[in-house]
Amino acid sequence: MIKLPVAAPDLSGKEEEYAVDAIRSTWISSTGPYVQQFEDLFARLCGTKTAIGVCNGTVALHLALLALDIRPGDEVLVPSLTYVATANAVRYVGAEPVFVDVDPNTWCIDPTMIEQRLTQRTKGIIPVHLYGHPADMDAINHIAGVHGLWVVEDAAEAHLAKYKGRSTGKLAPIGTFSFYGNKIFTCGEGGALTLDDPHLELRIRTLRGQGMDPQRRYFFPVTGYNFRLTNLCCALLCAQLERRDAIIQVRRQIFATYKEMLADISGIGFQPTATWAEPSPWLFSVTVEEKQYGISRDKLMAILAEHGVETRPFFIPLHRLPPFRQKSRERNETLPQTDALSSKGLNLPTYNNIATDDLSYICDIIKKAKRLSVK
Ligand SMILES: *Cc1c(COP(=O)(O)O)cnc(C)c1O
Repeated sequence: MIKLPVAAPDLSGKEEEYAVDAIRSTWISSTGPYVQQFEDLFARLCGTKTAIGVCNGTVALHLALLALDIRPGDEVLVPSLTYVATANAVRYVGAEPVFVDVDPNTWCIDPTMIEQRLTQRTKGIIPVHLYGHPADMDAINHIAGVHGLWVVEDAAEAHLAKYKGRSTGKLAPIGTFSFYGNKIFTCGEGGALTLDDPHLELRIRTLRGQGMDPQRRYFFPVTGYNFRLTNLCCALLCAQLERRDAIIQVRRQIFATYKEMLADISGIGFQPTATWAEPSPWLFSVTVEEKQYGISRDKLMAILAEHGVETRPFFIPLHRLPPFRQKSRERNETLPQTDALSSKGLNLPTYNNIATDDLSYICDIIKKAKRLSVK
C-alpha cells in the first residue's frame, strides 16, 4: 500500500474559493476573468510580453512547433533524457526528433554535443530544464544563432527557475510549461507558452482556438485546434501562483532536509547545480552507484515500495523507446551519459505537506536498504 506518494498537489490556499467563484459565475469554459488574470500574472513572473494558457504542456510544445512552421522532413534536436512529450510533439508536426546526450553537470542537453548532430534538415533545438535545473541557455542560443536555428525551452519541470538571474520561459523565443498534477504549480491538466514576439503570439492564439480569425468571429482562415485552457483551471492557477513563494519555499526546505539526511551515504549522489543556475525544486532526485551503495537502484525502489514509499525511476531514454529507437539506431546515436543517469536515478516523494517524520522514515530506509534486502 502506498503511504507516501511521489507527488501530490497543494491546493490549500484559495483554490477552492476561486474554483467555486468560477462555478457560480457559470464561466467554466475558456472564457472568463481568471484566464486573463492567469496569463497576465504568468507573463509578468516569467518576464515575457505574453503568456498563453493551453490545455496541457504537450500541446504547448505542439503549438510552438506549429507556430515555427516545423514540417515533415525537418529535424529537431532534443535531449533523450526527458519526458516523452518533448519528442512526441516533434512527431505531431511530422518532423523527426534527433537525440543529443546530456551534460553530467546539469543533466540537461550538452551544448558541446549539439553541433555534431546538425544536418541540412535541422531546424531547431528544444532544451529541457530537467528536474527543475535550467539548461545552459547562453551556449545553446549561441549555437542556434550561428546555425540559424530556433530554440524552444521545455520548462515543464522548471517553473520560475533562474538562469544567470533570468527566469525560465524568457530564455528562448518560446518557453513552454506544464501544470499537470505533479508539477510545481498545477491545475490538474494545463500548460502555457511564454513569448515576446507579437507575430508568434497571434499565430499561437489563432491555432489554439480552432484557427478563428481574431478580427472576424466564426471565420476560420486556417486549420486550428481546440487547445484552450478553461477559466476553472485558471482559477486554480491564480490561487497557486498567489502562493508561489510559499510553495517554492516549502519544496526548497524538503530538498534541504533530504540532502542533510542523505549526506555521506556511500553511493548515493545528488542532482548537481551549475554555478549559474537557480533551479526550481521539482522532484528531489538521487542517483545510486550500485558498487558503492551495495544494491541497485531498482532494488532500492522495490524496498521503498515494500515500505509504502512510492518513487519514480528517471526517464527511460527516448532513443530506447519503440517509437524512436529504429531511427536513432540508423543515425548511430550513442548517448552514454543519458544511459548512465537513466539507469541509476530515482525521484523521491516531494510535495508540500510531507512531514519531516516522513522524510526521516524514507531516509532511514535508504540508509538501511542493504541490510533490509538480505532479510
Ligand atoms: C510534464 C512534462 C511535459 C508535458 O506536460 P503535460 O502537461 O503532461 O502534457 C512536457 N515536457 C516535460 C519535460 C515534462 O516533464
